[in-house]
Amino acid sequence: MTPPLKLSHSRSHELFTRANKVIPGGVNSPVRAFRSVGGEPLFLARGSGSYVWDVDGNRYLDFVGSWGPLLFGHAPEFVLNALRETMVSGTSFGAPTELEVQLAELMCETLPGLEMVRMVNSGTEATMSAIRLARGVTGRDRIIKFNGCYHGHSDSLLVKAGSGLATLGIAGSPGVPAQFAELTTSIPYNDLALFEETIRALGPNTIACVIIEPVIGNAGLILPTNGYLAGLRKLTEDHGIVLIFDEVMTGFRVARGGAAERFGVTPDLVTYGKVIGGGLPVGAFGGTREMMSHLAPLGPIYQAGTLSGNPLAMAAGIAMLSEIQKNDPYPHFERLGAKWSAEFSAIGKENGVAISATSCGSMIGFFFSDVPITNYETALGSDVERFKRFFHAMLSRGVYLAPSAFEAGFLSAAHTESDIEFFLTQARDALKTL
Ligand code: PLP
Repeated sequence: MTPPLKLSHSRSHELFTRANKVIPGGVNSPVRAFRSVGGEPLFLARGSGSYVWDVDGNRYLDFVGSWGPLLFGHAPEFVLNALRETMVSGTSFGAPTELEVQLAELMCETLPGLEMVRMVNSGTEATMSAIRLARGVTGRDRIIKFNGCYHGHSDSLLVKAGSGLATLGIAGSPGVPAQFAELTTSIPYNDLALFEETIRALGPNTIACVIIEPVIGNAGLILPTNGYLAGLRKLTEDHGIVLIFDEVMTGFRVARGGAAERFGVTPDLVTYGKVIGGGLPVGAFGGTREMMSHLAPLGPIYQAGTLSGNPLAMAAGIAMLSEIQKNDPYPHFERLGAKWSAEFSAIGKENGVAISATSCGSMIGFFFSDVPITNYETALGSDVERFKRFFHAMLSRGVYLAPSAFEAGFLSAAHTESDIEFFLTQARDALKTL
C-alpha cells in the first residue's frame, strides 16, 4: 500500500485567509469552499490535460474538470489558439459577429428539434430565460421540477435544488419570495405515476413547463429509469405543457446530442452551458423556430445581455464543438466510464464497502450505499460521513474529486486508461484506511 503524500497547503491557506476578508466565505460559488467535506479549499494555479496543480505546486488527477465544461481536459491547444486568434480583434462589440452564427449553426446540427438558439452567459440565465419563454408562450405560471435537480440559482428554481444546497443543507433560500416559490412544484425524480398525479392535482391548464436534468448530475449522478423520459414527453405533450431538458451539464457530455439523443426523447426547449463555452462563461437555450420566434425582437418575450455571444466565448465554444466533430470522444468516454464504475464497485466489494458507482458518457458518480440510487431521496440515505473521509484520503493521494457527496464527476478526452488505473489503485488504498 502506498502511503498518502505529505502535501503542503501553506500558500492555499494564505490565499484563503486573504480571500475570506474580501469574498463571502472566500469563494465565488459555495460548493468550492469544502464546507461539506471539512478543511480548506485548494487554490488552483494551472491545469493541463487531466491534471491540475495547486498554488503550492501539488499535482492532482482531476475529476472535477471545472464542473463540466472541459470535455477535452485543461488548456487544450485548439481552444487556446482560437482565443489567441480572436482576442487581437477585440474582446466585445455588443453587435452581431460571425462567430455567434457559427456556434449556433454547430449547435443546431446536433439535435433534430433544435432549430434556433439564443446565447446567454451562464446556465442560470439559460434556464431562467427558457422558463420565461415557456410561461410567455403558454400564458401559464406554474412550473414543475424534480427534487435534487439544480437549474442555477434564479428565484423560481431553488426549491429542493440539490447540488450546493444539498451540500450545505439549505432547503431553498431566504430572499426568494414565497409567492415565487409557490409557483414551483418539486417532486421526486423517476416516478411517472406521481408526475401524472401532480399534473392532475395542480390542473394541467396552470402548468407552463416541466424542467428536468434528464440525467441528474447535481445530486450525485442519477440515471433515468427505462421509459421515464419518454413518459414525461408523452404526458407533457398531451397537456400542452412545455418540456425543458436542462442539458447545461449533459449537453455534449452524455452524447453529442446530449441526453435527448442518448435517450431518444426530443424536448420543446433545451438549455445549454458548460461544454458549449469551451471553458469560458456561456449558456444558451433553444428549441423549434416556432417556439423561439416568441422571443424579442421577433416576439414580445424579452431577454437580453450586454456580453451575450461574446466573441472569446463563441470562439472557445466553436473550437470545442469542432474538435468533437473531428475527434469523436464518445466511444472513449463509454469505455473509460464503464471500466471506472465496474472496477470501483468491485474494489468496494473486496474491502467490504458497498459502493454504487455509475457512468453515463463522460459523467461518473458514486455513492457509498448498498441500495440502488434512483432519486434524491435515496441519495440522501447514502453514507456521507464515509464520503468525507474518502474525499480527503483521495486528495492526499493526488486525486481531486468534487468536494461533495452530491456532485457528479467528469471524465475528459485527456483522461487515459492509466489515469483510471491510478484512481483505482489510490481508491483501494484509501478504502483500507477509512
Ligand atoms: N443547470 C444545470 C444542470 C447545472 O448543472 C448548472 C450548474 O452547475 C446550471 C444549470 C447553472 O449553470 P451556471 O452555474 O453556469 O449558472
